[in-house]
Amino acid sequence: MTFERYQRHSLIDWFAQDLVQTAKVAIIGCGAVGNEVAKNLALLGVGSIDLYDFDTIEIHNLTRSVLFREHDVGKNKAEVAAMRIQKLDPNIKVNYFAGDFWDLLPLDKAQNYNCILCCVDNFEARIKLNQICTLTRTNLINTGIDSKFTQVEVFPFANNKQVACYQCNLPNTVYERMQARYSCGWLKKIAVTEKKIPTTIITSSLAAAMATSKALALINGNEFTKAESILINSATGVSSISNFEQNNCCIGCHTTKKHIFITKSSANITSKFNFSDNAKAEVNTSDPILVSYRCVKCNPNTNDCTVVFKKADDFDASLTTCKQCNHDSVDVVIQDSFTTHELINNYAGKKIPVKFLRLENKQQTTIIELE
Ligand SMILES: [Zn+2]
Repeated sequence: MTFERYQRHSLIDWFAQDLVQTAKVAIIGCGAVGNEVAKNLALLGVGSIDLYDFDTIEIHNLTRSVLFREHDVGKNKAEVAAMRIQKLDPNIKVNYFAGDFWDLLPLDKAQNYNCILCCVDNFEARIKLNQICTLTRTNLINTGIDSKFTQVEVFPFANNKQVACYQCNLPNTVYERMQARYSCGWLKKIAVTEKKIPTTIITSSLAAAMATSKALALINGNEFTKAESILINSATGVSSISNFEQNNCCIGCHTTKKHIFITKSSANITSKFNFSDNAKAEVNTSDPILVSYRCVKCNPNTNDCTVVFKKADDFDASLTTCKQCNHDSVDVVIQDSFTTHELINNYAGKKIPVKFLRLENKQQTTIIELE
């Protein structure tokens, strides 16, 4: 029965159904492109497909999402997409994760995927996924669309240490645009409405077809020696392919050229909490931490601050207005770098509220994923 199902694939000389059936793939983002990619991978018979999305279905998604129906509005996108593709092919294994992949995708799990397909619609999520993939050397396929153009980028990290990452050639304007959403470092600005890019099923299905083709190539073990980008004009059919060179100063991957050691630790800071024998060793956190705040008018003494020690992007800029005096006179302290001594002495008993810690020495980058 299974063989008969895939019989037409078996006639294609470059199609290795056995490799496809044992492949493990993750799709991050189950919107327009994610729907199409999930549908394609399921129809090809990809053995294990994990879907990640925190978002719920809205009525306007239905013009671009083959897996969603009107009565699904309000349900989680990953959950519904998983249910529908499981019906497309009952032989495959489908899992869904309703939440933020940053919280739900451990590094050791990322490592086990043949490739991860990035089908999100924002730069922040792409950069975070790029971090996971560069650290774990997991193949990454990124997609981007607007109403006319489709872009698919392949980052074959698994077999190449010297391959460019997503951030290697990212223009500064992207970081400037991301930063414009925040004030005082990493507090979210109040009432910033994201500009939505209008898209149609034409560009999303084109992006998904290309991304699926590249995923198949990676599953089949095709050797990509360089990162590449394919840009297609969906109106004219004109397309171009370019290769990315690694940028030696890239903030995304320059430290990953060293040996990377990934380990796990409890997020609780105790007196025995020890990442390094050197108390002065610098520990970088994967996410900025709101350490403390203090109204300079109400509490002039610098020791009179309120200690928070939580992820900075859980807070917005309303924090800078003092609840007592109503002035914009609150100083906030946000850090993404600590000494081990500082963590143990100032924050014992607290949980480090980030995905992972990074310690650098000359030979090695150590990543401590927190549980
Ligand atoms: Zn890079």
